[in-house]
Amino acid sequence: MTNRSPNRLRVLDDHVAALRECRRCPQMIGPVVTGRPVWSEVLLIGQAPGTHEGPAGKPFAWTAGKTLFRWFAAHGLDEEAVRDRVYMAAVCRCFPGKDPKGGDRVPAPDEIERCRTYLAAEVALLRPRLVLPVGKLAIAQVLPAAPLADVVGRVHAATFHGVATDVIPLPHPSGASTWHRTEPGKTLLAQALELIGRHPAWRGLRRAA
Ligand code: SF4
Repeated sequence: MTNRSPNRLRVLDDHVAALRECRRCPQMIGPVVTGRPVWSEVLLIGQAPGTHEGPAGKPFAWTAGKTLFRWFAAHGLDEEAVRDRVYMAAVCRCFPGKDPKGGDRVPAPDEIERCRTYLAAEVALLRPRLVLPVGKLAIAQVLPAAPLADVVGRVHAATFHGVATDVIPLPHPSGASTWHRTEPGKTLLAQALELIGRHPAWRGLRRAA
């Protein structure tokens, strides 16, 4: 059975369908937001959807997404191509709600743990050659804790849920964050995007055009 065999594609479709029905976290606000069930060697991990993603029915549907897709477009794949060719996962797939102190609530450890089972299943199915965690919360699921400036701009060889893979972390593209717009973040982001553009798994996605 090859990676893209009908059986495996059906398993991935079934996985995403089951994920969309998940209601395991009482504090989380649905609907569950998933990317398209695309078989890909590149796995992108966001943090959690915001208020706009649920109604839109897709991850990175608002301003942060515009920035993220602009970053990728400079390296050969526009938004539709990314959505069609990159498996888009997240630390948590439901909107955590607002934090009374401002911004979105950070998912609780038990919520992250519950949703991790879906991520682990996706890694087992896809066996990605390249993982792109976006933002601190996502990076922390894949690499040991470290400041952004120590991890962005490099390729990390890692074992993620038992699968050996390259990891290229990205900062969160939120407009509320200045990290990627000021130094050293600006230069480190440019380095990270260059590394993504040159990675064989990403180049393979570009050739799939
Ligand atoms: S956050 Fe994840 S585990 Fe929790 S209800 Fe949503 S999909 Fe299920």
